[in-house]
Amino acid sequence: MTQTAYRAQLLTFRDAPALSDDNAVYETDGLFLVEDGRVVAAGAYAALRAAIAPAAIARDLRDKLIVPGFIDSHIHYPQTEMIASPAPGLLPWLNTYTFPTERKFEDPVYARETAGFFIDELLACGTTTALVYCTVHKQSADAFFSESESRNLRMIAGKVLMDRNCPEYLRDTAQSGYDDSAELIARWHGRGCQEYALTPRFAPTSTEAQLEACAVLARQHQNVYIQSHVAENTDEIKWV
Ligand SMILES: [Zn+2]
Repeated sequence: MTQTAYRAQLLTFRDAPALSDDNAVYETDGLFLVEDGRVVAAGAYAALRAAIAPAAIARDLRDKLIVPGFIDSHIHYPQTEMIASPAPGLLPWLNTYTFPTERKFEDPVYARETAGFFIDELLACGTTTALVYCTVHKQSADAFFSESESRNLRMIAGKVLMDRNCPEYLRDTAQSGYDDSAELIARWHGRGCQEYALTPRFAPTSTEAQLEACAVLARQHQNVYIQSHVAENTDEIKWV
């Protein structure tokens, strides 16, 4: 057993912080104990110091604040390389930058490299869990989950469902989207810390048949997540 003891300021939450200020727990002089990669105790240093094993590695970080990992509730890993591309609105942005970039994720090697880079960037910012869009390609989801699993992270992700109003090269069909999603749920949902999210991109890019097929999957797998987009601007609302 390897134990590491961190003496630092600690901030954690008993429940959703928006519900009550009392849900935030702050220790000005805290102790955070990790054994073999798992947190075994956290609280006031005075109360916990007896729990420090004699052979523990002690780290004094009293001028630092330790917080739980951040959770990002909406992000697209395939867009890593085109962040901040300029466009007058969502629809031209998708057509000019996003869709051509997403095409590259046909290639599982490229997908794997980007997924690894993306996850390492998240970690560098303190984000340890995210709800993530992949591309329409099932190999993009396999690549993402493989990189997440290799770092033992909890991630929630899904292959995009998209069968109209997008380039031919990025289209699935109601049936193939259903089959690929079912296959990915079977392979990844609940494997270690990985979880699946059904991912119809937004109303304009899924036919009613595709949304019906997605609903069938949602009923069959009641503990998978669903992620999508609502209309983002007036041009899009008009179109929808
Ligand atoms: Zn989005």
